[in-house]
Amino acid sequence: MSIAKLRQQLKQGTISARELVDHHISRINNIDSKLNAFLEVTQERARTDAKRIDDLIASGESLPPLAGIPFAIKDNLCTKGITTTCSSRMLENFVPPYESTVTERLWKSGAVLMGKTNLDEFAMGSSTETSAFGSTSNPWNLSRVPGGSSGGSAAAVASGECVAALGSDTGGSIRQPASFCGVVGFKPTYGRVSRWGLVAFASSLDQIGPFTNSVADTAEILQVIAGNDPRDSTSLKAPVPNYSALLTNSLSGLRVGLIKECFEHDGLSPDVKRSVLAAADQLQSLGVELVEVSCPRFNDGIATYYVIAPSEASANLARYDGVKYGYRSEVSENLASMTTRSRTEGFGPEVKRRILIGTYALSAGYVDAYYKKAQKVRTLIRNDFDNAFKKVDLLLTPTSPTTAFTAGSHSDDPVSMYLSDLLTIPANLAGLPAISLPCGFDGSGLPIGVQLIGKVLDEAHLLQVAHQYEISADVMDKHPTGELIP
Ligand code: GLN
Repeated sequence: MSIAKLRQQLKQGTISARELVDHHISRINNIDSKLNAFLEVTQERARTDAKRIDDLIASGESLPPLAGIPFAIKDNLCTKGITTTCSSRMLENFVPPYESTVTERLWKSGAVLMGKTNLDEFAMGSSTETSAFGSTSNPWNLSRVPGGSSGGSAAAVASGECVAALGSDTGGSIRQPASFCGVVGFKPTYGRVSRWGLVAFASSLDQIGPFTNSVADTAEILQVIAGNDPRDSTSLKAPVPNYSALLTNSLSGLRVGLIKECFEHDGLSPDVKRSVLAAADQLQSLGVELVEVSCPRFNDGIATYYVIAPSEASANLARYDGVKYGYRSEVSENLASMTTRSRTEGFGPEVKRRILIGTYALSAGYVDAYYKKAQKVRTLIRNDFDNAFKKVDLLLTPTSPTTAFTAGSHSDDPVSMYLSDLLTIPANLAGLPAISLPCGFDGSGLPIGVQLIGKVLDEAHLLQVAHQYEISADVMDKHPTGELIP
């Protein structure tokens, strides 16, 4: 049920906030042993929050916009007094003394915290398999991955364990798991949403965004979390439009560009290609004009990202030294060995790989050849987008070259895993807003996602086109068996 419908029912008294919370707690109790989407379920707090909302309803006072809505939060967003692990041994016992801006805004708007969700360790991965606390399964097929790194949030929304969730997206970590799990995933413009309280991975790329069952729900959540925050120096001082009010504006006159380079890939699954092109046709029938555009550097995104992101990560993760907070090894002779041992024991293999790559790319003698070169290519990728946006309002691509892959199938080959981010990474490198929404199913009944990329701060058009497509295509009702995890 949509947030708007739930709000109506809560107001009318056909459902109470307590009932809504209890329904989701029992769903979690019934299925999460199969999914492992949650690292912690905060049921006591959820019931206390629900009581507050029910009291508010009883008092007849006006309700804040997300009153009583059950949310799950990716476990790399700091929640005051609630363990925030980043799915790492390093932060296994870390209880933040402060609340992230996004979650603080959610709670002020009446949202209810159901718990913290699983992710790839420090958000590094595309399958939620690098979590130190076990992998998450895809609710459509338990032998498949949910995508990553926000796989727990995506699986929780897809399986009805919560109404909405937050994730973070550095190279696709909201959009790719959204496409694998058949939900809507949205990465706002870099700077649109405050990163304060998000555990940093690659600071020039990280953005926070929602997972929902509909674009209308995404618009409602973005309304709450968007806007300037003096605590994040990269947060933009731009006015926040009324996203929900703009959803139904006419699409006629809008131009959507199909990025030619995205459809030419050997690795692009034929099912994905067919379904995404059908979504483009559907948009055309809704009045948008389709245009083929070229972004010649689009496919260089992956090589660029895998220099820049690890470089920034190697700097950000230097703070885990075993001294100030986080895991500290028991065995140590002196400060240097304590730091070495703490990092050796506290970080998993993928995080170590990224730190090594980043340290190498930034080291004297290599920084020009790797890091600085990658920054130059980043500019070229951005220029390609600028040129494309002279001709069109939005761009359309598949979200991921494939549907959800089998758990373990990329574990021995990190580069093949990295390739699954091919189509999502360029929007992060250019700081552009992008959304993934369901557009069909493959031959095995697994969901497929289509990605729309917008101009800087043009979230409104993105949501508008996505919403009208979603309503007209009604994809999720067309699943061959309609079977999700029972
Ligand atoms: N899968 C990408 C990576 O491993 C992106 C992760 C993310 O967006 N947090 O880096």
